[in-house]
Amino acid sequence: MQELTVPTQSRTEFVDITAEVNRAVHAEGVAEGVCHVFVPHTTAGVTINENADPDVTRDVMAVLERLVPRDAGYRHAEGNSDAHAKASLVGSSLTVPVAAGRLVLGTWQAIYFCEFDGPRHRRCLVAAIAK
Ligand code: ZN
Repeated sequence: MQELTVPTQSRTEFVDITAEVNRAVHAEGVAEGVCHVFVPHTTAGVTINENADPDVTRDVMAVLERLVPRDAGYRHAEGNSDAHAKASLVGSSLTVPVAAGRLVLGTWQAIYFCEFDGPRHRRCLVAAIAK
């Protein structure tokens, strides 16, 4: 298993980690199989979306902000319930096929680490499993 460190700069941010995950798959030495990406945090997650137009991730973040406003009378005393809810909405893991030692993604797909309570230094675990 490989561990990535993902430094985030803002409270809410999508970081394209596709190249780092590909490097981790290479380090695992798996030519064909699946890659499991897991984010071990409760206020961050991981998702796949378009990497061609940066407005797409901005729009997705705006949708999450409208769905889950920062302050809405939450009970959790830490004051970051919106981040916990957004993390649950995007989820904490992904499985991507691997062929010829690389992630098999669609032309416009990228893997995004989703920060909802940054800036922080985050971790992301990558396990490639041979078929
Ligand atoms: Zn909390």
